Amino acid sequence: MSCAVCGAGPGRPKLRKDGVEILACPSCGLEYWLPPEGFRAEDTYDAAYFDDAGASHGYSDYAGMEHAFRTSFARRLARLPPPGAGERLLDVGAAYGYAVLEAERRGWQAFGLELASAAAREAARQSSGRVVAASGLATPFASASFDVVTLWDVLEHLPEPHAAIAEIARVLRPGGRLLLSTGDVGSLAARVSGRRWHLYTLPEHLFFYTRRSLDLLLEAHGLRVEAARAYASYYTLGYLVERLRKSLLGHAGARGDWPGSKLCLPVNLFDIVTVTARRVEDPKVLAGGVARAAGA
Ligand SMILES: [Zn+2]
Repeated sequence: MSCAVCGAGPGRPKLRKDGVEILACPSCGLEYWLPPEGFRAEDTYDAAYFDDAGASHGYSDYAGMEHAFRTSFARRLARLPPPGAGERLLDVGAAYGYAVLEAERRGWQAFGLELASAAAREAARQSSGRVVAASGLATPFASASFDVVTLWDVLEHLPEPHAAIAEIARVLRPGGRLLLSTGDVGSLAARVSGRRWHLYTLPEHLFFYTRRSLDLLLEAHGLRVEAARAYASYYTLGYLVERLRKSLLGHAGARGDWPGSKLCLPVNLFDIVTVTARRVEDPKVLAGGVARAAGA
């Protein structure tokens, strides 16, 4: 199969994880796996995905990490210029709506989209209806109607990266910004960890991006990359212990409600990249080179 970002192929086998072969694009370095017949990514995100200590994937207690998530989102948004009157921000893959609440607190007119209906209901309850249940591929918003779109740890979950970024570019005004974070499979931590890298989580992560694959994907839709850096994210101590158990033992163990488990800590392994990209006036300026690279 050819690369979903640049079109090069076939992918080279890189490693096996949970019985699944992960392939690497020989050109842009994107890594991916081939889901079995009938696999539907959206089926992964039921209520248990966000709140089930026993599940092998997802979160044992997403709501229990509200403070940690909101701290991360607030610090990421603080890197943007403060919004002018009426500036609009859309958070795609909003989960329980914490990034929408933080954006509102900082002065944006903020909206969110969430595919998982159980999470969207919880988000709508918290954010007075500004988070709606919808896929990032077909948003209910007019073209060029947002100043900022955010995509926090979501891109790796999306089965059609070009379709999703095309829709985001459509709703962004020229000059508007996309901020996204995702794992960096080309980072030192990922390379040293091999198949135990904490972001090789299947089946929810479908793609593992390199900085080059991100550049190609965004520029194909007229989004010029301004910055790509690894910032600290905040986690609860309980979550970190759970992830460590999953990486080393293959299961999360009991839910982490012990003294200190809610303690919120910054972590930076330099393997999660935050990219800021700006929508250019005329997308064809950037798209030409990438279309050639993809053989499109
Ligand atoms: Zn590629």
